[in-house]
Amino acid sequence: MNPPRLLDGKAVAASVLDECRAEAAALKAHGITPGLAVVLVGEDPASQVYVGSKARTCAELGFHSLKIELPAATTQLELLEVVRGLNADPAIHGILVQSPPPKHIDEAAIIRAIDPRKDVDGFHPENVAKLVLEDPTGFVPCTPAGCMKLLEEAGIATTGAEAVVIGRSMIVGKPIALLLVSKAANATVTLAHSRSLDLPAICRRADILIAAVGRPEMVKADWVKPGAVVIDVGINRVADPTKKSGYRLTGDVAYAEVAPRCAAITPVPGGVGPMTIAMLMKNTLQAARQLTGVRSGGV
Ligand code: NAD
Repeated sequence: MNPPRLLDGKAVAASVLDECRAEAAALKAHGITPGLAVVLVGEDPASQVYVGSKARTCAELGFHSLKIELPAATTQLELLEVVRGLNADPAIHGILVQSPPPKHIDEAAIIRAIDPRKDVDGFHPENVAKLVLEDPTGFVPCTPAGCMKLLEEAGIATTGAEAVVIGRSMIVGKPIALLLVSKAANATVTLAHSRSLDLPAICRRADILIAAVGRPEMVKADWVKPGAVVIDVGINRVADPTKKSGYRLTGDVAYAEVAPRCAAITPVPGGVGPMTIAMLMKNTLQAARQLTGVRSGGV
C-alpha cells in the first residue's frame, strides 16, 4: 500500500487564518474591529495555555481581544454578571467561557446566559438547534468545523461514504455526526460510544473514521478498513520521562500501526488541534458580520 496522506492541520489552519486576517482588514475599512472575549475561571494549566493562544491569535489577526481571568472561587452569580456585561459590550462580538469551569459552576447555565449571537463556541441551545436545522446563521462548534474543513481541503468525498464517529460529546462527537449527515456532506453516519457493542467491527465499516474519545491509542490497526481516512481528535497526555515536560501528546489512534493502512490520517499533534483555534477566529468574524450587518466577502 502507498504511504498515507498526512492531513496537515497546521498548513490548513494557517491558510484559514490568512483569510481571517484579510477579512478582519476588510471589516476595519467599515470601522469594525472583530472582538473576542475569553473568560477563564481558575488556574487549570491546560486552560491557561488554550486561553493564551486564543488571545495571541487574535492579536496576530488584528482582532480586539479581551482576556478575563477570574479566581477559582468566583461564584455562579459573579460569572453570570461578567457574561451579561460582555453580552452588552458592543466591542465584543464573540464570547467564550473556557471549559472546564470549577465544579461549583453550572456550565450549562453559563452557556445559556451567553447571547446566542455571540456564542462563537456554538454550544448555546439556539446554535445547537441551528446546526440540526442546517441554518448557516448558527455557529458550528470549532473542533467539528475544523474536522470538516480538513476533509474538504484534502478533497475527500463524503457523499455516500460510511462514516463512523467514536464519541458522543456535545462539543465534538455529536456535532461532527450532524455535520457529516447534513445535506452539505451526505455521509451515512454511525455514532458510536462507550456502550456500543463490538466497536472494532463498527469501525471496520468506516470509509471515514473519526475518533473523539480521550483514550490514548485506543483505535488499533485491525479496527481500520484498508484505505480508510482517519481523523484523530483525541489529545491525551501520556507520561514520558524522556521529555522535559514529563509527558507527550498522543491521539486516540495508535498512529504507528494504523497509518500504514490508511489513505489519509491526521497526526497528533498538528492535525485537528490547530484547526480548532482557526475555526474560532472564523466564527468570531461571522459574529462580527452578523451583529453589525456589514458583509465583506472572503471568509
Ligand atoms: P468527552 O469525555 O466529553 O467524551 C468522550 C466520548 O467518548 C463519550 O461520548 C463516550 O461515550 C466515548 N467513550 C468513552 N470511552 C469509550 C470507549 N471505551 N469506547 C467508545 N467510546 C467511548 O470528551 P470530548 O470532549 O468529546 O473529547 C474527546 C477527545 O478529544 C479528548 O481527547 C479531548 O482532549 C479531545 N479534544 C480535542 C480537541 C481539539 O482541538 N483537537 C477539542 C476538544 C476535544
